[in-house]
Amino acid sequence: MRGSKGEGTKVVGGDGEAWEGEGGDRKGAECLNRSSEGVQGREVGGSKVVKGFVSEDKEFVQNTLRKREPVERGEAAHGQMHKGARVKANTEWISVILCISLVIIDFLLLLTHFSTNHLCKIIVGIVAGIITADFASGMVHWGADTWGSVDIPVIGKAFIRPFREHHIDPTAITRQDFIETNGDNCLITIVPLACLIYKFLSRTPESIYDTYAWECFMFALAIFVTMTNQIHKWSHSYFGLPFWVTVLQDLHIILPRKHHRIHHVSPHETCFCITTGWLNYPLDRIGFWRKMENIIEALTGHKPRTNDLQWAWKME
Ligand SMILES: [Zn+2]
Ligand SMILES: [Zn+2]
Repeated sequence: MRGSKGEGTKVVGGDGEAWEGEGGDRKGAECLNRSSEGVQGREVGGSKVVKGFVSEDKEFVQNTLRKREPVERGEAAHGQMHKGARVKANTEWISVILCISLVIIDFLLLLTHFSTNHLCKIIVGIVAGIITADFASGMVHWGADTWGSVDIPVIGKAFIRPFREHHIDPTAITRQDFIETNGDNCLITIVPLACLIYKFLSRTPESIYDTYAWECFMFALAIFVTMTNQIHKWSHSYFGLPFWVTVLQDLHIILPRKHHRIHHVSPHETCFCITTGWLNYPLDRIGFWRKMENIIEALTGHKPRTNDLQWAWKME
């Protein structure tokens, strides 16, 4: 039973109380009709009407029934939204399956061409890839948290809003399933991972040997970008985490829970990097984000986080 407390009949059911009537469904309209007949304290659909409807005049009932129109329009919109959600869910599934397949192929190709001759370069390549992914996560997160509005067409709803909502309900991310969590990031890395395979298959072994550390960089970057949302989700999960995840968090190989909590203190202006969090200390220490904000403010006149603070205040 869902409704507003504006107008209608207060109904007490087995599971508490609710309001029926305004813009409600057929049951709500029936309820109104009965109320307009002056029904008070009667059983309606197994629930006891404890407060009769305020008016007996027909005009009121007609007006109330007319309010179904927006609801019907809303239902049509809901149908479209449902279709949109289905398309998104399918895209996410395809992205995740494709991405995992490409990662496996890339990994096998890297293994085939592996040589200990340039082990140092490989390690540097992998570490640089992880740091770049961490920096990228910080830039994207900072951009979405700090600038723009949730009302901007397309980007606002699809990109900025999820970041802003995350501040209001940080644990919502933990209720997402695997596909929902990783779909978007998998979509981003499909092309780079496919390019990597193409490189391996189209070049000579000597040429691959020469640039092997670079391929390791690209692979590590792609893996950690793909994993960012999952790692972020783990940083908000306090129950049921696999043991190996907590070990990686404790060793600060991926974003630790305690560390990420710092970002969730309003006004959310520090610790934007959410892949490993390695760059958070150095970037905050040199005032990187404040300097970037000052530059952008000087160029555009826009103040950082203005919209976020207004929006968060409105949502509370
Ligand atoms: Zn944030
Ligand atoms: Zn978070």
